[in-house]
Amino acid sequence: MGDNGDDGARYGGRRLKPHQQWDRGQNCAIGRDPRAMTPAELTALGFARRAPLKVIREKCIDCCAGNKAEVRRCGAVDCPSWLYRMGTNPWRQRRLTPEQRAEQGQRLRVVVQKTRNRIDSGRED
Ligand code: SF4
Repeated sequence: MGDNGDDGARYGGRRLKPHQQWDRGQNCAIGRDPRAMTPAELTALGFARRAPLKVIREKCIDCCAGNKAEVRRCGAVDCPSWLYRMGTNPWRQRRLTPEQRAEQGQRLRVVVQKTRNRIDSGRED
């Protein structure tokens, strides 16, 4: 098994193995480098395109055995994920005045209406 030649069943039926090489010096497998992988290879490993913040949130829920309330209660500020455990980036938090909020709402309504109009006109073609 020096080349990590396990069959596909071990990897849940994935077509691609998560390990690319065997480190003979350390006698352990070396995981693939996702920076060097194509989207097709990532898909073959079972990954889908996802927002990193949502992935962190999912990991936190896993850390708390599926209990979202425990994620909310987590006080482990030494954990690098702590800031992002609610699935948002607090560094990007914006405080809007009621006027700004109303203006954004109006802009959003215009965009939604334009999109609907474009879709409706496409259906008539
Ligand atoms: S922030 Fe808390 S819940 Fe999230 S991974 Fe760290 S310890 Fe677990």
